[in-house]
Amino acid sequence: MVVSEAVPFAQTGGLAEVADALPRALVRLGHDVDVVMPRYRGIAAGTIVRRIPVAVGPNVTEVDFHAATADGVRTVFVDHPAYYDRDYLYGVAERDYADNPERFAFLCRAALSWALVEPAYDVVHAHDWQAGLVPVLIGQMFRRGTLPARLPAIFTIHNLAYQGVFDASWLPRLGLSWDMMRVDALEYWGRVSFLKAGIVFSRFITTVSPRYAQEIQMPEYGFGFDGILRERSHDLIGILNGIDYDHWNPARDANLPVPYTASDLAGKRAAKRALHETLHLPTTDDVLRKPTIGLISRLVDQKGFDLLAALADELPRLGATITLLGAGERRYEDLWLGLAARYPDRIGVRIGQDERLEHLIEGGADLFLMPSRFEPGGLNQMYSLRYGTVPLVRATGGLADTVRNFNPQSGTGTGFTFDEYSPQGLLGTLRWALGVFQDRETWTRIQVAGMQQDNSWDASARRYAEVYERAAASRVWA
Ligand code: ADP
Repeated sequence: MVVSEAVPFAQTGGLAEVADALPRALVRLGHDVDVVMPRYRGIAAGTIVRRIPVAVGPNVTEVDFHAATADGVRTVFVDHPAYYDRDYLYGVAERDYADNPERFAFLCRAALSWALVEPAYDVVHAHDWQAGLVPVLIGQMFRRGTLPARLPAIFTIHNLAYQGVFDASWLPRLGLSWDMMRVDALEYWGRVSFLKAGIVFSRFITTVSPRYAQEIQMPEYGFGFDGILRERSHDLIGILNGIDYDHWNPARDANLPVPYTASDLAGKRAAKRALHETLHLPTTDDVLRKPTIGLISRLVDQKGFDLLAALADELPRLGATITLLGAGERRYEDLWLGLAARYPDRIGVRIGQDERLEHLIEGGADLFLMPSRFEPGGLNQMYSLRYGTVPLVRATGGLADTVRNFNPQSGTGTGFTFDEYSPQGLLGTLRWALGVFQDRETWTRIQVAGMQQDNSWDASARRYAEVYERAAASRVWA
């Protein structure tokens, strides 16, 4: 795998969690996986295992490769201090580092130089735009005879919003020829896109849920890439992310006061009380009997915070307590802090990152809200299902694939979903869910159905392994 971040070494987002959990799950299935990533500042793990020359364009650099093995996964760190020994991974505040094209072209090139001397690989799995040049460089090396076999590449889109678009003048500096400026290659509105490189030249493209794989082929969700993705429709596969079942397990969660399981949910009451205490909300029996709603999110439009803002006057009048953990856009942070100040008996807010509170909300809330405008995979709805905290989500992307809407006729379902992205769509479903909450027996049935759903990585890793095997079968030998 070629990736720009992986837990526990470097993380800015969900990609790093996948880059940690998926290789470990593949190893559990009996596969061998090496993960190649930059040796960023602060990474102390690993020892030097090889020194290999890496050529990008006219420049050749001798690079030390460090390696560390944990849970059977070997992580290989590319040491190029001028590129990676910096304060941040991609840039300072909102500004990307100006040399990101060469920093990540170098990562791709280095990974393939490594593959040349450790020639046991059947496939290469590249993640997001930072690794998008991998299949392009494979083609180039194969044509020049430096790579004996054409390694099939699989490319995964974790977030279509980041497209690695740069000035075309980078091409010669990266050792790429001007014919890459074709529309059926890297050209994107007069510039070059590394994301497009990954999509156009890989054997298969995957993304993190089946629904999102469909959605991104439509203009509404395609971020300008829907046409490019439609071209590759036959090779575009949605595979749901899993969640870490050890880290997220209500029966063994040190952040919860009392552990619980689907057959004995009593511990949820203690978690609810602890959640209310943590956010200085009332803990009288009367209040704890009423529903508590949880939200954990980046506070941005993508996550539906514009809908929630439009409902600011309604939220305190739902007869429920609302608990929110998040950080993001200033206007939403201010709005929620303002609501908590006005309704301290009903709304509890923590702005910032807080792992313990994250687990307490997942354990202590009754209903979890994710009204996203779009959601490639989404994690919190799966944590919620596992913790018996009924998710209420907009039916989009990974949310639509993981939450089954409650059906009052059959009594089946694992949560509540709404389709129309509007304040009224959200409010109507919210009122409905809070009504169903009054029926304890039905509510418990929804909780238990969610807790029994399998969202472990093992199932997802099997799907990836199938894709690898299909790709390996198409391997072209020199
Ligand atoms: P995205 O990657 O788009 O933000 P995901 O649902 O895929 O959305 O992943 C978000 C992850 O970040 C979840 O694990 C969530 O619990 C965590 N998270 C988000 N905000 C916070 C916060 N303020 N404190 C702690 N964890 C958070």
